[in-house]
Amino acid sequence: MPALPPSTFRTASPGETRALAERIAATLPDGAVILLEGELGAGKTCFAQGLARACGVRRPVTSPTFTLVNEYPGTVRPFAHMDLYRLASEDEAATLGLDDYLLRYPGLVAIEWPERAPSFLPPDAWRVTLSPAPDPSNPDARLVTLLPPAPTPVP
Ligand code: ADP
Ligand code: MG
Repeated sequence: MPALPPSTFRTASPGETRALAERIAATLPDGAVILLEGELGAGKTCFAQGLARACGVRRPVTSPTFTLVNEYPGTVRPFAHMDLYRLASEDEAATLGLDDYLLRYPGLVAIEWPERAPSFLPPDAWRVTLSPAPDPSNPDARLVTLLPPAPTPVP
């Protein structure tokens, strides 16, 4: 099975980024892990809000600040929102059992700042990169790239 190519989208507003995330979420299986990459203010939390909406979460979704993860039941499926920004070291990820958590979570998991714990991320994660789109007429324009996981070879 060939690897799927990355897809790039352009959004013109936070609402469009949420709507895009919602559409993408509908194509992801239970247990999918979505790595959200991009600078501060790129729109990672905004994208996570769209994923949450697709899971049937009605509570407002904000970045977890005092905890590493916020969990939402969702009427469609559970949603977990992680922010690893404050992770002290990869040892902490080990202590918390991050890899095990990601393996077992039944719904969608979105992870902001996944680069803080590179060795604890599953190889079959989806990667979403957000960045400002160079557009002098719209400072809210963003490029959103979706990179599906490489298919695992069948033994
Ligand atoms: P991050 O989690 O990457 O630090 P946030 O999602 O918290 O970023 O914040 C993104 C900020 O940029 C918000 O204030 C949001 O309103 C604004 N914004 C402007 N345009 C967009 C867009 N197209 N997509 C996402 N956010 C946008
Ligand atoms: Mg954020």
